[in-house]
Amino acid sequence: MLTMLRHIIQEVSSAQDFSEALNIMVRRIANALATEACSAFLLDRHNGEYVLVATQGLNPKGVGKIRVPIDKGLIGLVGEREEPINLDDATKHPRFLHVAEAKEEAYHAFLGTPLIYHRQVLGVLIVQQREPRKYDESEEAFLVTLATQLAAIIAHAEATGELATLFEKSQTKKHELVYSGVPGSPGIGMGAGVVIYAPSDLDTVPDHEPEDIDAEIEMLHASFAAVREDLRLLAERLYPLLAEDERALFEAYQRILETSELAKEVEDGIRAGNWAPGALSKAIDVHVRRLEGLDNEYMRERAEDIKDLGRRILAYLLKNDRAAPQYREKTILIGETLAPTDLAEVPEGCLAGVISAKGSGNSHVAILARAMKVPTVMGVSDIPLQVLQGKEVIVDGYYGQIHVSPSPSLREEFERLLAEELKLDEELDAIRDLPAVTEDNHHIALMVNTGLGADISMALQAGPEGVGLYRTEIPFLMRDRFPSTEEQRIIYRQLLASFAPRPVIIRTLDVGGDKPLPYFPIKEDNPFLGWRGIRITLDHPEIFLAQLRAMLRASEGLNNMRVMLPMVTDVQEVDEALRLLRKAYTEVRDEGYDVEMPQIGVMIEVPSAVYQARALAKRVDFLSVGSNDLTQYILAVDRNNPRVANLYDSLHPAVLRALMQVVDNGHQEGKHVSICGEMAGDPASALLLLAMEFDSLSMNASSVGRVRWAIRHFTKKKAAKLLHEVLSMESAVMIRCHLELALERAGLGNLIRAGR
Ligand code: PEP
Ligand code: MG
Repeated sequence: MLTMLRHIIQEVSSAQDFSEALNIMVRRIANALATEACSAFLLDRHNGEYVLVATQGLNPKGVGKIRVPIDKGLIGLVGEREEPINLDDATKHPRFLHVAEAKEEAYHAFLGTPLIYHRQVLGVLIVQQREPRKYDESEEAFLVTLATQLAAIIAHAEATGELATLFEKSQTKKHELVYSGVPGSPGIGMGAGVVIYAPSDLDTVPDHEPEDIDAEIEMLHASFAAVREDLRLLAERLYPLLAEDERALFEAYQRILETSELAKEVEDGIRAGNWAPGALSKAIDVHVRRLEGLDNEYMRERAEDIKDLGRRILAYLLKNDRAAPQYREKTILIGETLAPTDLAEVPEGCLAGVISAKGSGNSHVAILARAMKVPTVMGVSDIPLQVLQGKEVIVDGYYGQIHVSPSPSLREEFERLLAEELKLDEELDAIRDLPAVTEDNHHIALMVNTGLGADISMALQAGPEGVGLYRTEIPFLMRDRFPSTEEQRIIYRQLLASFAPRPVIIRTLDVGGDKPLPYFPIKEDNPFLGWRGIRITLDHPEIFLAQLRAMLRASEGLNNMRVMLPMVTDVQEVDEALRLLRKAYTEVRDEGYDVEMPQIGVMIEVPSAVYQARALAKRVDFLSVGSNDLTQYILAVDRNNPRVANLYDSLHPAVLRALMQVVDNGHQEGKHVSICGEMAGDPASALLLLAMEFDSLSMNASSVGRVRWAIRHFTKKKAAKLLHEVLSMESAVMIRCHLELALERAGLGNLIRAGR
């Protein structure tokens, strides 16, 4: 069964398109279960109907036409119950719905199972047979197992819009597509897609209309000829060294180039309206998928050969710089994995948005984008990069969503929001130099988070009272070796000097988890529960001491530096870090630097630190809550995993209670308590944090203005009442709704979007 299952999935995955995949699927299932009919009905949510999209055994003319209302028939019942229904005679069931067009009167036995992905019913898969009989347990288990795997393929087709094209009635909406990722940098960006791709990567070559079809075809044949010649020369040189079967490989390559249909297929693709690299990528993909779907291991291996050939031809096709991006006036930069340099290369004033298929809000690109105030969405895993070149794209950096080819009404809606944003920005600018004081005269310090040289000026522009978190790992991540003490000193000095006399909290190295250093590989099954943050630096005092020395030297004469320790779980870690700090301090003073002992603080990022906040506070000068990690560890939800992103919410009642406990414990020891996770930059959450008596909030530069605005237009008294109200609520969703309502009522509705 397992082998059969694997083969069906392989075959379905290697189909040319989604429609073919569905046809393969129903045929193969009918075969595997030796049953007469197998059909797939997928949910057209727009119309509230299940649509027959593939069948073996029912009337093939009904495909795309037969529609069963969501609450009718046995199909509807399987969807409602979200579990299989197995009947020996379906016609006797009260929910049996006779659909004349389907020509299913002859069938009696019925087994239907829902196709569910991420809790959503996407469709129903059924098998039928003339003879009344109950499908046995193993058949039912087989269908259920298959359905779980197929659901992922269907969800992908839904995301790429292929599903919509199958639903005749919803065709008018088919071009407008929405993709979800995670917010990388807030704001709304509107423009045209420019896809950045590695010139040797066939999978990311974008589709493009050819400027001159004949020239493309000519280039194609020249590239084939060039690869043939390369291979001939290579073979000539290597033949004496090769065994018989290795030589056969070269011969096979030559045969593919000379006699196969490949060139013809690519040519057809060009004539059909794609440029040569795009048409080549498509043709290679078809061959590869076909080979990978075969039972024969040897033939499956050949898929790699075809890919290799494809890459060689592509390299010739992309010579003469044809791969250089053609930036638009309003460029939405799109790529599988973008590098910070990709952003830097876009001509000034032209970068309207960024989309990365991989990465998270913590990736360098996202950090740089925030620094540059460019709306960004990260981790959009389902995005079909190839087709976005030149398409109209809207990047919603607040919600982490992307709209491709928006309808006029959607475009208007976003244009309106953008105009509102600009207006709000102007208003925020006007109060930039005013402190965050509530209407009833309560002050809370607003600080910025920084981590990249480039964003210092942006951070200063936000008018903060200091830096609440400087993430030192960025300079470490951007090199191919540990930065020297002197290199670090220069970076820290620039930061401290830019903000002096305002305080600057520099966090010691926090790598590991999702931030591995390329030159310090850590292989672990559970990186977030493994060697990260202070655990690494205490195990490598030479790295820790070098960093502390660099910090201390950098602070000479400025004395505005504070040091903060990440990922602390135990008081012993603090004691040891303090010992090393004192050691570094003595050494630096002995070297002749006239420095003061800096204040030191601990980040509260894990539940154990919450419960020991008082003991930790005793040892240091301040506490700062890292709510990003604290939320992740309290809720046991990976902060970078889009699959569980809906469960990650810093407004969860458990997180709120932990925050209150930290403030209370810190204040009992008379210590300053701050918060520097993303929630501090959410205007609605900031009001709760104000009520909780946090002494300062540290956030991205782009959030400071909105949080300042919210605080200046609210009273501490109202915030306290709000906190009291939300503490009686049992879910993050209710709390968020309640906060948004309160903001609306206070005339601060325009800040809500920024809180996402
Ligand atoms: C946090 O965890 O909230 C935090 C500020 O640190 P980082 O996001 O760098 O892990
Ligand atoms: Mg953290």
